[in-house]
Amino acid sequence: MLEHLKEQPKDKILALMAAYRADARDTKIDLGVGVYKDASGNTPVMRAVKEAERRINAEQTTKAYTGLAGDPAFSDAMIDLVLDGAVARDRVAAVATPGGTGAIRQALELIKMAAPGATVWLSDPTWPNHPSIIKYLGMKSKSYRYFDSDTGQVDYVGMLTDLGQVLPGDVVLLHGCCHNPTGANLTMPQWKGVIDLLKDKAAMPFIDIAYQGFGDGLAQDGAATRLVASSFDNVLIAASCSKNFGIYRERTGILMAVAKDEAQRDLAQQNLAYLNRQNFSFPPDHGARIVSTILTDAELRADWEAELEEVRLGMLDLRKQLADELRRLSNSDRFDFLAEHRGMFSRLGTSPDKVEMLRADHGIYMVGDSRMNIAGLNADTVPVLARAIIDAGV
Ligand code: PMP
Repeated sequence: MLEHLKEQPKDKILALMAAYRADARDTKIDLGVGVYKDASGNTPVMRAVKEAERRINAEQTTKAYTGLAGDPAFSDAMIDLVLDGAVARDRVAAVATPGGTGAIRQALELIKMAAPGATVWLSDPTWPNHPSIIKYLGMKSKSYRYFDSDTGQVDYVGMLTDLGQVLPGDVVLLHGCCHNPTGANLTMPQWKGVIDLLKDKAAMPFIDIAYQGFGDGLAQDGAATRLVASSFDNVLIAASCSKNFGIYRERTGILMAVAKDEAQRDLAQQNLAYLNRQNFSFPPDHGARIVSTILTDAELRADWEAELEEVRLGMLDLRKQLADELRRLSNSDRFDFLAEHRGMFSRLGTSPDKVEMLRADHGIYMVGDSRMNIAGLNADTVPVLARAIIDAGV
C-alpha cells in the first residue's frame, strides 16, 4: 500500500530553518520562519496568556468534550474582536478550528460544498498554504496581481484589472491586514474600490486575518475586514490567534461565515459543525479558552493589549531603523517602502540569486522570494543586514 505514495513537495520555509540550524557561523541572522521573536531571539509566552492558563488550571473541573463548534464564549469573544458589531450577531455563524490554517481549510471545504465550480482568486504572491490546500482539495484557483517589486507597493491597477475577470459566484481571498509575504497593504480607499468591484461582479470575499494587532493596532487592523463584512450578504473570515496571542502550538483559530439573515446563518452554522465533525470532531479547546479568558476579563485584556502594542511598536521601530540605515547607505529613498510595510513581513523584491548571495556570503536567511521576518532583527543586526543588502547589490 504505502509504496504507492509519491514524494510531496518539501516546505521551503522548514528547509530554510534546517539550513539555518546547520550553519556554524555565529553571525548568522534568521529572517525566515514566520514566528514573532523579541530582541533576544525568543518567542515568549505573553503575560496574560500565562495568567489565563494559571486560572484555567486552577478552575477547570472537566476536560469533557465541548460542542462541535467549540466553546461559544470563544466564538462570541472573537467575533467581537474581529467584527466589533459591524454585522448583527445573528448573521454570523462560527466554529473554532485548529489554528488559522484549520479555518482556511474549513472555509475552502464549505465553498466546495456550496459552489463546487467556483474559482478562488489568490493574490500573487500569497501565503503558500493557500494554493497548496486549494490544489489538495481539487478546487479551481486563479491569481490576481498584487505586488510591484520595483516600488515595494501594492500594484493596485494590476489588482483591479485582474479582478475585473472574476465571475459571479467566484471567491476572492484577501489578507485582512499585514499581507504575507509582502507586507504591502491596501489603503482604506483602495479597499473601498475592491469592495465596489467585487459587489459589481457578484463575487464573495474570503478574508484571512492572521496578524490583527501587528500592523496599525488592534482596531485599525480589523477595519478593512469590518468594512468588507458589512458590505456583502456573504463573507467568510478565517482568523488566527497564533500570532497576536503568541499561542502558535495551541492551534487556535476561528472560521466565521457572515450570512444574509438568521435562517441562512443557522444553515451555515449547521454545515460548519458538520465539517468539523468530518475532519476532527471537536476543535482544540485549550488555546480557545486562553483567548476567551483574556478577552472577557478587563484586567487581562488590558495587559494583553499593552504587550501586543509593545510587540507592534518594536517591529515598527525596526522597520524605521532598517529604512533609515538603507537610506544612508544607498543615498536614496528606494528602500523607504520597508518603513511603510506593516506586519511581520516585508518582501525586499530582489531575485533568488541575491537572496542566495545574502545567505552564502553573509549568513542572512530569508525566504527565496525575498520575504524577511522583520521580528528576526534587533538593533545590532539591522546595520549588518543593511550593509549586506547594499553589498549584494540589491
Ligand atoms: N494565514 C496567513 C496569511 C498566515 O501567515 C498564517 C500563519 N503563517 C496563517 C494564516 C495560519 O496560521 P496558524 O494556522 O498557525 O494559526
